[in-house]
Amino acid sequence: MSVQRYFITKPLMNIIQIYNQFPKEIDCLKHLEKVRWNGKPICPYGECKSLRVTPLKKENRYHCNACNTSFSVTVGTIFHKTHIDLQKWFLAIALILNAQKGMSARQLMRDIEVNKNTAWYMAMRIRRAMIEQGELLQNLVECDETYIGCKNKNKHNNKKTKGGQGRNTKDKTPVFGILERGGKVRAQKVKDVTKRTLQTLLRANVKEGSKIMTDEWVSYNGLSPRFAHSVVNHGSGQYVQGEAHTNTLEGFWSLLKRGIIGQYHQVSNRYLDRYVAEFCYRYNHRDEGDLFAQTLINSVTL
Ligand SMILES: [Zn+2]
Repeated sequence: MSVQRYFITKPLMNIIQIYNQFPKEIDCLKHLEKVRWNGKPICPYGECKSLRVTPLKKENRYHCNACNTSFSVTVGTIFHKTHIDLQKWFLAIALILNAQKGMSARQLMRDIEVNKNTAWYMAMRIRRAMIEQGELLQNLVECDETYIGCKNKNKHNNKKTKGGQGRNTKDKTPVFGILERGGKVRAQKVKDVTKRTLQTLLRANVKEGSKIMTDEWVSYNGLSPRFAHSVVNHGSGQYVQGEAHTNTLEGFWSLLKRGIIGQYHQVSNRYLDRYVAEFCYRYNHRDEGDLFAQTLINSVTL
C-alpha cells in the first residue's frame, strides 16, 4: 500500500509566505497576541490570570496591576525564554509541518541559521505543540503494535512472528497504534504489549461498539462483546479478509519508521513519543488547509 496517500494534499504556509506575512519580530508578536488573547491580554502567571493589565508599548510587554509583574505574549508558550527571533520560530514550524518525512535538527539548523542544539531544542518544542488529545475513535478501527528504536531494516512481512513478540526486542521500544479508518490515528510508546496495557488504551480511546481489526496477537483476545472484533491471521499469511485488515495502520507505521530511520536515525526512548506525535499530527491534519494557524494556536495554549 502506498504511503503517498497520507501526504498532506492541501497547500500549507511555505517559507516565502511566512516572510511576507511576518517580515519583522513585531509582526510575529502582534500575530501571537491576536491568536492568544484576541485583543484582551491576560496575565499568564500562575493563578493570577488578571485582565487588569497596562501595555508597556516600548517593550512590547504588559504590566499586570494585580500581581505587579510584567510579561510578553510568549510567557508560558513554546517560545518562552528562548531568545530566538519569532520569525525563525515561525519558519521552523512551517518547515517541520511541510517535511512529510520528518526534518533532522541538522537540516533545520542549516535552513534557519541557528546552531544544532538550538535547532534540536526548537524542533522538540514544536513537537510538543503537536501532541493532541481528541475525541474517541469509532466505526472501523485498526489496532496494531510496532517496535522502534533499533537499527534493523524494514523486516516488513514477518516482523511480527507471533510468539516471538516481546522477545528479541530488548533494544526496541513497543509503540501501540489505534487508527480509525478514514479518520485519525493515535499512537504512543507502551511499556509492554500485554493484554492489560493494550486493552486499557483501547478502551480509553475507542468508542464502545466499534468494529476493531487486529491481527491474532493474544493480547487482543476478549475484546468482544464490548467491541465487534475481527482478526486477520498474519501468522498464516492472511492480510486482508473483506474489511478486516490493518493495512492502513501498517502504512502509517511505514511512514513513521522511514521518518525515524531516515531523518532521525535513532531516537532516544525518552523523546520517542514526541516523534510519534509529530507523525500522528501530520496524518491527522492531512486534509486541513491551514495547519500552520492551528499549530500556532497549539503553541500558545499548551
Ligand atoms: Zn498577574
